[in-house]
Amino acid sequence: MNLSEIFCQDKAVNSLQRAYACGRLPHAYIFAGADGVGKFCTAGTWSKLLLCYSPIIKDNFADSCGKCESCRCFEGDSHPDFHHIYKELIKFVKDAQKRKRQPVDLPIDVIREFLIDKVQTKPALSAAKVFIVSEAEKLNAASQNALLKVLEEPPAASFIILLCTKLDNLLPTTRSRCQIVRFGPLDEEKIIAHLVQAGINKNEAKFWARFTGGSIGQAQMLSAIEPSFYEIKKEFLKRICRCQLADSVDIAQWINSTASKLTESWMKIKNDTSKADIGRQIKKIFVQMVISSLDDAMKQLKAEKMINFDQAGQIQAIEQNRGAENCAKLIEDCFTAGRFIDASVNEKLVFERLLINFANSAMITN
Ligand SMILES: [Zn+2]
Repeated sequence: MNLSEIFCQDKAVNSLQRAYACGRLPHAYIFAGADGVGKFCTAGTWSKLLLCYSPIIKDNFADSCGKCESCRCFEGDSHPDFHHIYKELIKFVKDAQKRKRQPVDLPIDVIREFLIDKVQTKPALSAAKVFIVSEAEKLNAASQNALLKVLEEPPAASFIILLCTKLDNLLPTTRSRCQIVRFGPLDEEKIIAHLVQAGINKNEAKFWARFTGGSIGQAQMLSAIEPSFYEIKKEFLKRICRCQLADSVDIAQWINSTASKLTESWMKIKNDTSKADIGRQIKKIFVQMVISSLDDAMKQLKAEKMINFDQAGQIQAIEQNRGAENCAKLIEDCFTAGRFIDASVNEKLVFERLLINFANSAMITN
Protein backbone atom coordinates (compact mmCIF):
# COMPACT_ATOMS: atom_id res chain seq x y z
CA MET A 1 0.00 0.00 0.00
CA ASN A 2 1.14 3.55 -0.77
CA LEU A 3 0.36 6.96 0.67
CA SER A 4 -1.80 7.83 -2.35
CA GLU A 5 -4.11 4.89 -1.50
CA ILE A 6 -5.09 6.18 1.97
CA PHE A 7 -8.87 6.21 2.27
CA CYS A 8 -10.52 9.64 2.71
CA GLN A 9 -7.90 11.36 4.88
CA ASP A 10 -6.85 13.98 2.35
CA LYS A 11 -6.47 16.76 4.91
CA ALA A 12 -4.02 14.79 7.06
CA VAL A 13 -2.09 13.43 4.08
CA ASN A 14 -1.88 16.90 2.49
CA SER A 15 -0.43 18.41 5.66
CA LEU A 16 2.31 15.75 5.58
CA GLN A 17 2.89 16.44 1.89
CA ARG A 18 3.26 20.19 2.45
CA ALA A 19 6.02 19.64 5.00
CA TYR A 20 7.68 17.15 2.66
CA ALA A 21 7.59 19.57 -0.25
CA CYS A 22 9.36 22.33 1.68
CA GLY A 23 11.91 19.89 3.07
CA ARG A 24 11.12 20.80 6.67
CA LEU A 25 10.13 17.49 8.10
CA PRO A 26 9.33 17.36 11.81
CA HIS A 27 10.96 14.39 13.52
CA ALA A 28 8.18 13.82 16.05
CA TYR A 29 4.49 13.57 15.20
CA ILE A 30 1.23 12.85 16.94
CA PHE A 31 -1.40 11.37 14.63
CA ALA A 32 -4.60 12.14 16.55
CA GLY A 33 -8.07 10.75 15.84
CA ALA A 34 -10.54 7.97 16.67
CA ASP A 35 -9.66 4.30 16.32
CA GLY A 36 -9.82 2.95 12.81
CA VAL A 37 -9.87 6.19 10.80
CA GLY A 38 -6.57 5.40 9.08
CA LYS A 39 -3.87 6.62 11.50
CA PHE A 40 -1.86 3.40 11.39
CA CYS A 41 -2.18 2.95 7.61
CA THR A 42 -1.11 6.54 7.04
CA ALA A 43 1.79 6.23 9.48
CA GLY A 44 2.90 3.02 7.73
CA THR A 45 2.79 4.42 4.19
CA TRP A 46 4.39 7.67 5.40
CA SER A 47 7.20 5.62 6.97
CA LYS A 48 7.62 3.69 3.73
CA LEU A 49 8.09 7.01 1.92
CA LEU A 50 10.57 8.31 4.51
CA LEU A 51 12.62 5.12 4.15
CA CYS A 52 12.39 4.79 0.33
CA TYR A 53 15.62 5.16 -1.70
CA SER A 54 14.04 6.98 -4.64
CA PRO A 55 10.67 8.57 -3.83
CA ILE A 56 8.48 9.50 -6.78
CA ILE A 57 7.09 13.02 -6.94
CA LYS A 58 4.15 13.51 -9.29
CA ASP A 59 1.80 16.52 -9.29
CA ASN A 60 3.33 17.76 -6.04
CA PHE A 61 2.54 14.46 -4.34
CA ALA A 62 5.46 12.42 -3.02
CA ASP A 63 5.15 8.67 -2.62
CA SER A 64 7.40 5.65 -2.13
CA CYS A 65 8.63 3.95 -5.31
CA GLY A 66 7.49 0.45 -4.32
CA LYS A 67 10.50 -1.07 -6.12
CA CYS A 68 13.71 -0.29 -4.22
CA GLU A 69 15.22 -2.61 -1.62
CA SER A 70 13.80 -0.50 1.19
CA CYS A 71 10.26 -0.62 -0.23
CA ARG A 72 10.55 -4.38 -0.83
CA CYS A 73 11.71 -4.99 2.76
CA PHE A 74 8.94 -2.76 4.05
CA GLU A 75 6.30 -4.68 2.12
CA GLY A 76 7.79 -7.94 3.35
CA ASP A 77 7.44 -6.76 7.00
CA SER A 78 11.18 -7.09 7.45
CA HIS A 79 12.56 -3.53 7.29
CA PRO A 80 15.29 -3.25 9.95
CA ASP A 81 14.76 0.53 10.32
CA PHE A 82 11.01 0.38 10.86
CA HIS A 83 9.89 -0.19 14.45
CA HIS A 84 6.33 -0.67 15.63
CA ILE A 85 6.02 -0.11 19.37
CA TYR A 86 2.93 -1.46 21.19
CA LYS A 87 2.25 -2.42 24.77
CA GLU A 88 2.23 -6.19 24.19
CA LEU A 89 5.97 -6.02 23.40
CA ILE A 90 6.34 -6.41 27.16
CA LYS A 91 6.37 -10.17 26.38
CA PHE A 92 9.80 -9.68 24.80
CA VAL A 93 11.65 -7.44 27.26
CA LYS A 94 14.95 -8.66 28.71
CA ASP A 95 13.73 -8.99 32.30
CA ALA A 96 11.88 -12.33 32.44
CA GLN A 97 9.85 -11.28 35.48
CA LYS A 98 8.38 -8.30 33.66
CA ARG A 99 7.42 -10.42 30.65
CA LYS A 100 4.62 -12.02 32.65
CA ARG A 101 2.73 -8.77 33.19
CA GLN A 102 -0.53 -8.08 31.36
CA PRO A 103 0.04 -4.50 30.22
CA VAL A 104 -2.75 -1.94 30.59
CA ASP A 105 -0.52 1.12 30.22
CA LEU A 106 2.27 1.38 27.67
CA PRO A 107 5.06 0.18 29.98
CA ILE A 108 8.23 2.21 30.41
CA ASP A 109 10.34 -0.95 29.85
CA VAL A 110 8.88 -1.27 26.35
CA ILE A 111 9.59 2.40 25.59
CA ARG A 112 13.16 2.11 26.90
CA GLU A 113 14.15 -1.14 25.22
CA PHE A 114 12.34 -0.83 21.91
CA LEU A 115 12.49 2.91 21.30
CA ILE A 116 14.95 4.92 23.39
CA ASP A 117 17.77 2.34 23.15
CA LYS A 118 17.26 1.77 19.43
CA VAL A 119 16.75 5.36 18.32
CA GLN A 120 20.41 6.16 19.02
CA THR A 121 21.80 3.49 16.70
CA LYS A 122 22.54 4.09 13.02
CA PRO A 123 19.99 2.99 10.40
CA ALA A 124 20.86 -0.35 8.83
CA LEU A 125 19.29 -0.11 5.38
CA SER A 126 17.76 3.31 4.74
CA ALA A 127 18.84 6.86 5.48
CA ALA A 128 16.50 7.06 8.48
CA LYS A 129 14.75 5.04 11.17
CA VAL A 130 11.04 5.28 11.91
CA PHE A 131 9.21 4.40 15.14
CA ILE A 132 5.42 4.16 15.30
CA VAL A 133 3.95 4.04 18.80
CA SER A 134 0.42 2.57 18.90
CA GLU A 135 -2.07 3.56 21.63
CA ALA A 136 0.06 6.51 22.74
CA GLU A 137 -2.87 7.63 24.92
CA LYS A 138 -1.80 4.74 27.17
CA LEU A 139 1.71 6.12 27.71
CA ASN A 140 1.87 6.67 31.45
CA ALA A 141 3.62 9.71 32.91
CA ALA A 142 6.87 7.78 33.51
CA SER A 143 6.98 6.57 29.90
CA GLN A 144 6.22 10.06 28.58
CA ASN A 145 8.91 11.62 30.74
CA ALA A 146 11.41 9.04 29.52
CA LEU A 147 10.46 9.93 25.94
CA LEU A 148 10.74 13.70 26.35
CA LYS A 149 14.42 13.99 25.56
CA VAL A 150 14.13 11.88 22.42
CA LEU A 151 11.12 13.89 21.27
CA GLU A 152 12.91 17.14 21.92
CA GLU A 153 16.12 16.24 20.16
CA PRO A 154 15.49 13.16 18.05
CA PRO A 155 18.69 11.89 16.46
CA ALA A 156 18.84 13.46 12.98
CA ALA A 157 18.03 10.29 11.12
CA SER A 158 14.94 9.26 13.06
CA PHE A 159 11.22 9.89 13.03
CA ILE A 160 8.78 9.11 15.83
CA ILE A 161 5.04 8.92 15.22
CA LEU A 162 2.70 8.63 18.21
CA LEU A 163 -0.77 7.31 17.32
CA CYS A 164 -3.28 8.68 19.78
CA THR A 165 -7.06 8.51 20.25
CA LYS A 166 -7.19 10.91 23.23
CA LEU A 167 -4.88 13.90 22.95
CA ASP A 168 -5.82 15.03 26.46
CA ASN A 169 -4.15 11.92 27.88
CA LEU A 170 -0.76 13.17 26.70
CA LEU A 171 1.18 15.61 28.83
CA PRO A 172 1.45 19.18 27.49
CA THR A 173 5.22 18.67 27.42
CA THR A 174 4.76 15.70 25.05
CA ARG A 175 2.22 17.49 22.85
CA SER A 176 4.33 20.62 22.49
CA ARG A 177 7.31 18.64 21.16
CA CYS A 178 5.36 17.00 18.34
CA GLN A 179 3.69 18.08 15.14
CA ILE A 180 -0.01 17.19 15.60
CA VAL A 181 -1.75 15.77 12.53
CA ARG A 182 -5.52 15.37 12.99
CA PHE A 183 -7.56 12.55 11.48
CA GLY A 184 -11.28 13.30 11.26
CA PRO A 185 -14.15 10.79 11.12
CA LEU A 186 -14.93 9.46 7.67
CA ASP A 187 -18.01 10.21 5.64
CA GLU A 188 -20.83 7.72 6.38
CA GLU A 189 -21.78 7.14 2.73
CA LYS A 190 -18.18 6.37 1.79
CA ILE A 191 -17.83 3.80 4.58
CA ILE A 192 -21.13 2.17 3.60
CA ALA A 193 -20.09 1.98 -0.05
CA HIS A 194 -16.73 0.48 0.95
CA LEU A 195 -18.31 -2.19 3.17
CA VAL A 196 -21.03 -3.04 0.65
CA GLN A 197 -18.34 -3.52 -1.96
CA ALA A 198 -16.67 -5.99 0.41
CA GLY A 199 -19.90 -8.01 0.53
CA ILE A 200 -21.57 -6.61 3.66
CA ASN A 201 -25.35 -6.14 3.59
CA LYS A 202 -26.36 -2.47 3.30
CA ASN A 203 -28.26 -2.27 6.60
CA GLU A 204 -25.39 -3.86 8.46
CA ALA A 205 -22.89 -1.52 6.77
CA LYS A 206 -24.98 1.51 7.72
CA PHE A 207 -25.30 0.36 11.32
CA TRP A 208 -21.53 -0.16 11.74
CA ALA A 209 -20.72 3.14 9.99
CA ARG A 210 -22.90 4.98 12.52
CA PHE A 211 -22.04 2.85 15.53
CA THR A 212 -18.29 3.37 15.06
CA GLY A 213 -18.72 7.11 14.49
CA GLY A 214 -17.09 7.06 11.07
CA SER A 215 -14.26 4.62 11.71
CA ILE A 216 -13.72 2.40 8.68
CA GLY A 217 -11.13 0.22 10.43
CA GLN A 218 -13.45 -0.59 13.31
CA ALA A 219 -16.43 -1.03 11.01
CA GLN A 220 -14.46 -3.51 8.88
CA MET A 221 -13.24 -5.35 11.96
CA LEU A 222 -16.66 -5.63 13.59
CA SER A 223 -18.32 -6.80 10.40
CA ALA A 224 -15.66 -9.49 9.87
CA ILE A 225 -16.06 -11.28 13.21
CA GLU A 226 -17.88 -14.63 13.38
CA PRO A 227 -20.50 -15.37 14.61
CA SER A 228 -22.06 -12.24 13.09
CA PHE A 229 -21.70 -9.42 15.60
CA TYR A 230 -24.50 -7.61 13.77
CA GLU A 231 -26.95 -10.47 14.37
CA ILE A 232 -25.78 -10.58 17.97
CA LYS A 233 -26.46 -6.86 18.42
CA LYS A 234 -30.02 -7.34 17.08
CA GLU A 235 -30.60 -10.23 19.49
CA PHE A 236 -29.00 -8.24 22.33
CA LEU A 237 -31.22 -5.21 21.75
CA LYS A 238 -34.34 -7.44 21.68
CA ARG A 239 -33.29 -9.01 24.96
CA ILE A 240 -32.50 -5.81 26.82
CA CYS A 241 -35.64 -4.12 25.48
CA ARG A 242 -37.86 -6.65 27.26
CA CYS A 243 -35.45 -7.19 30.18
CA GLN A 244 -37.20 -7.77 33.52
CA LEU A 245 -35.41 -7.89 36.85
CA ALA A 246 -35.54 -11.71 36.85
CA ASP A 247 -33.82 -11.86 33.42
CA SER A 248 -30.77 -9.78 34.31
CA VAL A 249 -28.63 -12.73 35.49
CA ASP A 250 -29.46 -14.78 32.38
CA ILE A 251 -28.70 -11.93 30.00
CA ALA A 252 -25.43 -11.14 31.79
CA GLN A 253 -24.41 -14.81 31.38
CA TRP A 254 -25.41 -14.71 27.70
CA ILE A 255 -23.25 -11.60 27.19
CA ASN A 256 -20.25 -13.24 28.83
CA SER A 257 -20.47 -16.49 26.88
CA THR A 258 -21.11 -14.60 23.61
CA ALA A 259 -18.19 -12.26 24.34
CA SER A 260 -15.89 -15.29 24.78
CA LYS A 261 -16.83 -16.65 21.33
CA LEU A 262 -16.33 -13.22 19.74
CA THR A 263 -12.97 -12.84 21.47
CA GLU A 264 -11.75 -16.14 19.97
CA SER A 265 -12.78 -14.99 16.50
CA TRP A 266 -11.22 -11.52 16.91
CA MET A 267 -7.95 -13.14 18.05
CA LYS A 268 -7.71 -14.91 14.69
CA ILE A 269 -8.02 -11.61 12.79
CA LYS A 270 -5.89 -9.38 14.98
CA ASN A 271 -3.15 -11.30 16.70
CA ASP A 272 -0.95 -8.46 17.99
CA THR A 273 -3.25 -7.74 20.94
CA SER A 274 -3.60 -9.82 24.10
CA LYS A 275 -6.66 -11.96 24.68
CA ALA A 276 -7.49 -10.05 27.87
CA ASP A 277 -7.39 -6.76 25.98
CA ILE A 278 -9.65 -8.01 23.20
CA GLY A 279 -12.05 -9.46 25.78
CA ARG A 280 -12.28 -6.05 27.42
CA GLN A 281 -12.82 -4.33 24.08
CA ILE A 282 -15.66 -6.71 23.15
CA LYS A 283 -17.37 -6.19 26.49
CA LYS A 284 -17.06 -2.45 26.09
CA ILE A 285 -18.70 -2.79 22.67
CA PHE A 286 -21.68 -4.44 24.38
CA VAL A 287 -21.80 -1.48 26.80
CA GLN A 288 -21.53 0.87 23.82
CA MET A 289 -24.49 -0.91 22.22
CA VAL A 290 -26.57 -0.21 25.32
CA ILE A 291 -25.43 3.43 25.19
CA SER A 292 -26.33 3.73 21.49
CA SER A 293 -29.86 2.41 22.13
CA LEU A 294 -30.40 4.72 25.13
CA ASP A 295 -29.01 7.65 23.20
CA ASP A 296 -31.35 6.95 20.27
CA ALA A 297 -34.26 6.64 22.72
CA MET A 298 -33.37 9.76 24.69
CA LYS A 299 -33.10 11.97 21.63
CA GLN A 300 -36.47 10.71 20.32
CA LEU A 301 -35.03 10.71 16.82
CA LYS A 302 -36.90 9.75 13.70
CA ALA A 303 -36.16 6.10 12.84
CA GLU A 304 -33.97 7.02 9.85
CA LYS A 305 -31.64 9.19 12.00
CA MET A 306 -31.03 6.57 14.70
CA ILE A 307 -27.86 4.52 15.06
CA ASN A 308 -30.24 1.59 15.62
CA PHE A 309 -32.46 2.66 12.71
CA ASP A 310 -33.00 -1.05 11.99
CA GLN A 311 -34.68 -1.61 15.37
CA ALA A 312 -36.67 1.59 15.73
CA GLY A 313 -39.64 -0.21 17.33
CA GLN A 314 -37.47 -1.49 20.17
CA ILE A 315 -35.84 1.90 20.67
CA GLN A 316 -39.26 3.55 20.93
CA ALA A 317 -40.30 0.93 23.49
CA ILE A 318 -37.20 1.71 25.58
CA GLU A 319 -38.12 5.41 25.53
CA GLN A 320 -41.80 4.84 26.30
CA ASN A 321 -41.04 2.59 29.28
CA ARG A 322 -38.46 4.90 30.80
CA GLY A 323 -38.55 8.47 29.59
CA ALA A 324 -35.58 10.56 28.50
CA GLU A 325 -34.43 11.35 32.03
CA ASN A 326 -34.08 7.69 33.04
CA CYS A 327 -32.31 6.97 29.78
CA ALA A 328 -29.77 9.69 30.60
CA LYS A 329 -29.20 8.20 34.08
CA LEU A 330 -28.68 4.76 32.55
CA ILE A 331 -26.09 6.19 30.16
CA GLU A 332 -24.16 7.35 33.24
CA ASP A 333 -24.38 3.76 34.60
CA CYS A 334 -22.98 2.53 31.28
CA PHE A 335 -19.96 4.82 31.58
CA THR A 336 -19.36 3.45 35.09
CA ALA A 337 -19.62 -0.10 33.70
CA GLY A 338 -17.03 0.81 31.05
CA ARG A 339 -14.64 2.03 33.73
CA PHE A 340 -15.14 -1.19 35.73
CA ILE A 341 -14.34 -3.25 32.64
CA ASP A 342 -11.14 -1.22 32.09
CA ALA A 343 -10.20 -1.87 35.71
CA SER A 344 -10.88 -5.62 35.21
CA VAL A 345 -13.59 -5.73 37.90
CA ASN A 346 -15.60 -8.98 37.70
CA GLU A 347 -17.36 -8.44 34.36
CA LYS A 348 -20.25 -10.77 35.03
CA LEU A 349 -21.24 -8.60 37.97
CA VAL A 350 -20.70 -5.43 35.95
CA PHE A 351 -23.33 -6.51 33.41
CA GLU A 352 -25.68 -7.88 36.06
CA ARG A 353 -25.62 -4.56 37.85
CA LEU A 354 -26.17 -2.62 34.63
CA LEU A 355 -29.09 -4.84 33.59
CA ILE A 356 -30.70 -4.64 37.04
CA ASN A 357 -30.62 -0.84 36.74
CA PHE A 358 -32.00 -1.13 33.22
CA ALA A 359 -34.92 -3.32 34.36
CA ASN A 360 -35.59 -1.18 37.43
CA SER A 361 -35.70 2.04 35.46
CA ALA A 362 -38.69 0.66 33.47
CA MET A 363 -40.55 -0.22 36.64
CA ILE A 364 -40.10 3.29 38.08
CA THR A 365 -41.94 4.86 35.16
CA ASN A 366 -44.67 2.24 35.10
ZN1 LIG B 1 11.33 2.80 -2.68
